[in-house]
Amino acid sequence: MIEKHLQKLLLQRRGKFMIPASLVATVNVNNSLDHAFLVLTKDRYAKIIVVDNENHYRGQLSLAMITDRLLETERINVNKLNELTVADVMQTNTPVIQDPFDVEENLRLMIDQSFLAVVDHQDQFCGIVTRRELLKAVSYTLHEFGKDYEVMPKKQSDNE
Ligand code: AMP
Repeated sequence: MIEKHLQKLLLQRRGKFMIPASLVATVNVNNSLDHAFLVLTKDRYAKIIVVDNENHYRGQLSLAMITDRLLETERINVNKLNELTVADVMQTNTPVIQDPFDVEENLRLMIDQSFLAVVDHQDQFCGIVTRRELLKAVSYTLHEFGKDYEVMPKKQSDNE
């Protein structure tokens, strides 16, 4: 459990936690890999969100996932870019969250994920929480804590 004063400071940046869906680059689950390849290359994101026609969250896609699928024994078969769709290659087992302000859960999941997709109860895609914004909130908290609080050790350490 995060200490309540630290939690309060972390949440002072809550307005910045989530990048709303309208500002997040996505691809459609039915898009050809050709199109997805272009979006990933142009936007320079390592991984992007996959949605369906009703804006439901469906998964995530990276360039590495695409190139891995194009790989044959001794060459890359680029013809497959037109034959396959995003649905054939995307990853569906990445964790999603419903509450972008649950810092405890965000910190735990972001050890392994550079961003987390936020969905509502109907699986509608709402936005992403990125490791960058969370780290900024942690940095803010570490710098501000001493300005508002005095810390007393419970036990005197031998090295102090
Ligand atoms: P950051 O922590 O800002 O470097 O973002 C981490 C990852 O989140 C990026 O590598 C992208 O995969 C994803 N990401 C961040 N911002 C966006 C965005 N506006 N649209 C799509 N993906 C994004």
